[in-house]
Amino acid sequence: MDDVSNALQSDHWQGLLQIANHLFQVRRFNEALYHVVREVASRMEVLRCSIIFVDDRKEIAYVVATHETSEIKRIPLDLKKYPEIVQAVHAKEPVFIPNVSQDVMMAPFQGVFRQISLQSVLVHPLIQGEKVLGNLILKISSPRVLTHQELQFVVWVSRLASSAIRNAHHYETLLEERDQLERLAMIDFLTDTYNHRYFNARLEEEFNRAIRYNLSLSAILLDIDDFKWVNDTYGHRRGDTILREVASVIKGTIRKTDFLARYGGEEFVILLPQTDLAGAYQEGERIRQAVRNHSYGETNQTKRITLSLGVATFPGRKITTTDDLIRAADTALYQAKRLGKDRIEAFAPSE
Ligand code: GH3
Ligand code: MG
Ligand code: MG
Repeated sequence: MDDVSNALQSDHWQGLLQIANHLFQVRRFNEALYHVVREVASRMEVLRCSIIFVDDRKEIAYVVATHETSEIKRIPLDLKKYPEIVQAVHAKEPVFIPNVSQDVMMAPFQGVFRQISLQSVLVHPLIQGEKVLGNLILKISSPRVLTHQELQFVVWVSRLASSAIRNAHHYETLLEERDQLERLAMIDFLTDTYNHRYFNARLEEEFNRAIRYNLSLSAILLDIDDFKWVNDTYGHRRGDTILREVASVIKGTIRKTDFLARYGGEEFVILLPQTDLAGAYQEGERIRQAVRNHSYGETNQTKRITLSLGVATFPGRKITTTDDLIRAADTALYQAKRLGKDRIEAFAPSE
């Protein structure tokens, strides 16, 4: 059976080569399977050649490729009507029914077969290791038998199709890598911190995790003091550099598990998973000191670059949603500004 060179006719060889070629070239998985069935249909006289995936519960199958059209949208099949597929899936062996009208298993479906003048069916499972990935299905009309060469051809096509499906896994990996790239697009280029949009997504994630596992989640809002003055005094470009340096100092101070984003303008936000109010306050205070003590390269600097910070923690009084958390941190930040800047305040809800 394995001796492909002896058994296959040159036409079948051509078919295998074409399929292999497509599998190398085509990136989209559905397209690759479409080439497989189309190639088979063009070299064997068939009513239909298709590939199906069988659902894990094995009660439903989906047509993922059929030779008649490249437009296929996972048409579902009720497996109760396809005993030959069920048998092939369970036995992990090809099932060939040379004459459906004389087959006991197929007896209930005779009416349908006559309508489409179906003579024989071949179901070849697409197997990888122990797993049936899907099935290649050939429906043949006219009273004719499949030759040994044709059966061999189907065996080899099935192997190629299995490998295409296996490669789909690699394709999925590629998609994951693309997602990684998308993450990179969520960086704020000036400050090399995450941007607001990505922050929102992370906030949702971390908040849900905090609820699910009953964990604390803290947020710190940070705003550079008198930045307008910084711009007016040193110029906007120097302002940009200082903004970047402040971000870098903050990054150097937070823990690996904390998440820093530019909230907008000269404002930043830090998410601190599994951190209570006291812990977040301490970290905020460390950041405040680090930013104020950093040298920003200006000589004769009479006024230091400083931050005001507001801290809030979930769960906490009046903090039950992501909006509450950010609003509370903002209220605390406002308080820090009001009390003289270059300081940190924790959210303390009024009655
Ligand atoms: P406060 O202490 O109350 O925060 O005063 P402030 O001057 O920092 O606050 P205000 O909101 O009045 O001004 C913020 C300034 O930050 C104004 C804006 O031009 C500047 N700014 C925002 N984004 C950037 C930026 O990307 N680069 C530079 N150079 N300046 C920026
Ligand atoms: Mg501001
Ligand atoms: Mg400011």
